[in-house]
Amino acid sequence: NENIVTIADVIRQQAKDQGEAPVFTFEGQQMSYAQLDAGSSRAANALASLGVNKGDRIAYMGKNSHLYFEILLGAAKIGAVMTPVNWRLAGPEVTYIVNNCQAKILFIGPEFVDLVKQIKSNFDHVETIFCSEQADEEFAGYPAWRDGFPDTDPMVACAPDDDALQLYTSGTTGHPKGAIMSGYSIFGARAKLTDDDLADWQKSQPGENMLLAMPCFHIGGTGSGLGNMYSGGHAIVVREYDPTQALDFIEQYGISKIFMVPAAIQILLNHPRVGEVDFSKLKYISYGASPIPLEMMKQSIDMFGCEFIQMYGMTETSGTIVALPPEDHDPNGNDKMRSVGKPLQGVEVKIIDEDGNTLPAREVGEIATRSSFNMKGYWNMDEATAATIDADGWLRTGDAGYFDEDGYLYIHDRVKDMIISGGENIYPAEVENAIYGHPAIADVAVIGVPDEKWGEAVKACVVLKDAAEISETDIIAHARTNIAGFKCPKSVDFIPELPRNPSGKILRRELRAPYWEGKDRAVN
Ligand code: ATP
Ligand code: MG
Repeated sequence: NENIVTIADVIRQQAKDQGEAPVFTFEGQQMSYAQLDAGSSRAANALASLGVNKGDRIAYMGKNSHLYFEILLGAAKIGAVMTPVNWRLAGPEVTYIVNNCQAKILFIGPEFVDLVKQIKSNFDHVETIFCSEQADEEFAGYPAWRDGFPDTDPMVACAPDDDALQLYTSGTTGHPKGAIMSGYSIFGARAKLTDDDLADWQKSQPGENMLLAMPCFHIGGTGSGLGNMYSGGHAIVVREYDPTQALDFIEQYGISKIFMVPAAIQILLNHPRVGEVDFSKLKYISYGASPIPLEMMKQSIDMFGCEFIQMYGMTETSGTIVALPPEDHDPNGNDKMRSVGKPLQGVEVKIIDEDGNTLPAREVGEIATRSSFNMKGYWNMDEATAATIDADGWLRTGDAGYFDEDGYLYIHDRVKDMIISGGENIYPAEVENAIYGHPAIADVAVIGVPDEKWGEAVKACVVLKDAAEISETDIIAHARTNIAGFKCPKSVDFIPELPRNPSGKILRRELRAPYWEGKDRAVN
């Protein structure tokens, strides 16, 4: 439906079409589309009463809940912009985002009351703080407050291209940046398509339940919650990813769809109960946000027995822009399984060199993309926006990759993580893949360390499985059976755990830092 391109219009329409149907279930409480519509209208009126206007940012630092979506939609109904804050961040990092987005109102989850009391004197713009659930002695509770307002929709006029959502990037490569999305970025491409244009895994079927296990401060969480609402589905929202609960819910709710990052899948695969769980209702697992080792994919196909969809995208593209569909997940030697698939309907992708020239198939360069999914820009970062989106609307992803002859895209890591050793470009993910399959190895990250002869040398940082033993030489020899000698690690460090950000991405810059102290790496 091409008329539905603001976030608020989506809930208005769904409430008309299927008001009684459930949209979210959270900790046993079910919310229907009509209740979400009414609740968000109360939220809109409540926010307006505090002087929140069109274009204002409101921030939310809390774990997932149905109320997060209600507040987001309430803000959207008056043209205000929800900015979720990564609750795993430390005080100064939270302050950075809250100040950067200039939020007037902050909602906090019950777990963060003490933290916010400590840091709130550093907030520059926040006027009012609410607890998203019950009141605290200092902060009023959101549900009781909004109940005092009418559920009449304020119907503030909003255009599809108005700012609607501001999500901060994961901060894998530096400070998180506030990516501004409009209703058009989130729903525009979808609104142009009919059900016939969509593959089965792109729609939601009546009566199906999806598990929303990704944090909402990440596009994987908010994006799938909004996508569920657009397609009229029912999402079981979990406060925070917990593998035991995820397995329970898969059975209890007959979950048919989940999006997970590879790190979350890996935890399920290693769960002591995973072998006893009934996965018969589970139709699709989609995964993305970081590379998945081929070996882990094969184990997952065996274990879950469902279909898989790989997704590639970023905050700046409102989520997925390229996907590898189930039919390309053939564990028996189909090379396409190493790719992230083909661009979605309406998405253009090209590979460019440093000067912006388009490269032919099989040549590695930076991935650039153009579509309605692209963000409007970074909040208050004109320079970074100009460096990311060109005048023709092409967005540079910062990821290196190439296309094969059939139009499948292969990701080769961050341009910044590429290792240049003796003039050869080496991509950490490829080396990690070559090492990961070894039975003694639980986890691995590959980085470039300074080397007098080669400029940079490949180093593997390895986490061993409990009680496993393997030598540096054996790991290098194992890698050599899979990849060329120049790509193999020259050295191996054994470490207890890899540094990861909340999306499960390896923080290679943290691993690199001690080796580069006092030395210059071209990018860091
Ligand atoms: P920052 O931009 O702040 O450094 P970030 O790029 O990790 O953080 P996100 O927008 O959450 O923040 O992540 C997008 C990135 O995740 C992509 O640019 C890409 O590097 C990686 N990514 C996403 N999907 C995949 C995938 N299927 N395979 C490999 N990498 C992926
Ligand atoms: Mg990024």
